[in-house]
Amino acid sequence: MSSTTTKSEEREKQETILRIEGLTKHYSQGSGLFSSIWPKPKVKAVDDVSFEIERGETLGLVGESGCGKSTLARTVLNLVEPTDGAVYFNGRNIADLSGEQLRQQREDMQMIFQDPQSSLDPRMKIGTIVEEPMRAHDLYEGEREERARELLEKVGLDPQHYNRYPHQFSGGQRQRVNLARALAVNPDFIVCDEPVSALDVSIQAQVLNTMQELQDEFGLTYLFIAHDLSVIRHISDRVAVMYLGQMVELAETEELYENPQHPYTQALLGSIPVPDPRAEGRRGLLEGDVPSPIEPPSGCRFRTRCPKLIAPEQYEMTESEWTGARRFMRAVSRRTFEVENEAQLRDEFFDQGVPSGEAGDIVETAIDLLLSDEWEQADELLEESFADPSICAQEKPDYAVETEYGTGVHHAACHLHREGIDNTANAD
Ligand code: ADP
Ligand code: MG
Repeated sequence: MSSTTTKSEEREKQETILRIEGLTKHYSQGSGLFSSIWPKPKVKAVDDVSFEIERGETLGLVGESGCGKSTLARTVLNLVEPTDGAVYFNGRNIADLSGEQLRQQREDMQMIFQDPQSSLDPRMKIGTIVEEPMRAHDLYEGEREERARELLEKVGLDPQHYNRYPHQFSGGQRQRVNLARALAVNPDFIVCDEPVSALDVSIQAQVLNTMQELQDEFGLTYLFIAHDLSVIRHISDRVAVMYLGQMVELAETEELYENPQHPYTQALLGSIPVPDPRAEGRRGLLEGDVPSPIEPPSGCRFRTRCPKLIAPEQYEMTESEWTGARRFMRAVSRRTFEVENEAQLRDEFFDQGVPSGEAGDIVETAIDLLLSDEWEQADELLEESFADPSICAQEKPDYAVETEYGTGVHHAACHLHREGIDNTANAD
């Protein structure tokens, strides 16, 4: 910043406060004796994620536990170094900052974490806690106590409680102390990593409302992480959905909730009906766990749990045959049923008839294997025949494709939305 431009002038000029480009963080796991002989496995915690955040907005980031949300947050905050890609804050690559610019970035970007208990030093009075960043940044000398009391009031606490200790406060109040501390050095941007996840539902809404009031008053920008979709909906202007280290969908909040395009988002939203006359009504809820980020599935990372896996081209199957085949495949893989007899299997998965031709032969063979209790072989055969040749396993879906599904710009990284593809045959 040149000395002639003030912070507010800069603010008006610059609409995008944060831009991340191809951000990637791979942790190397394990160490010790054999690490020189065997290469350490890489944990692909964040893989090629790009988005922008506009000044004053709240970008919600949602995804199941283990999807890389906290790693992304720490990389954005310059607390961990990315393996690849870059974070631009106010137009500057944070990896290139040093001296005064680095100090400024540390002041302008603050954070709030999930656990208000462990992030507050139990031996420090809350007044001292709120003043700590002012001391660290050498700001507000002589007026720190006054400012701390003011901030306590702003976040909805009694300024008289300046001399109390963290244990004298409830979980919600402690998170308010964290808010006051984050605001102490007048930041522009706050990364909030599951700030209300540990709180009772009734308290969550109150803290979220306070956060929104503070946002308006101080012109704050939030990157707001949560795994709870109702919390995200409440606070976000736009929502990014992350799965196993990658961004799978991003859209304006209402658009995302009303018109989700990625099968993962649809599964997360679970009960929200999709306006599609071909829809069966039953949205596949999320089955199983997030796979390991050490060896993530090929192609689309969600494909091992996806209820909409695209049929491999070599088989000619009707839509209902393919629906049965892939439900059968996932159920065998996860062993969600017990084998009684052949009729029961056919009934459960192929009440509309076993597929014809080559696909049918594969299904019949798998049924035979199951009848002789050879689950693993059946699983392998089905995966090899139906999942592996699917485009979903072959190619990474393109996140960069922007499609106007509804209002605003809406990204969805799913092969069902490839340009020029007729995806009606797979919409079920
Ligand atoms: P989330 O916040 O969405 O739950 P995280 O970013 O905490 O996800 O974790 C993403 C993945 O990276 C997980 O598989 C986790 O075990 C792994 N991970 C996180 N931190 C480290 C680390 N320091 N070293 C190795 N692996 C890590
Ligand atoms: Mg986390």
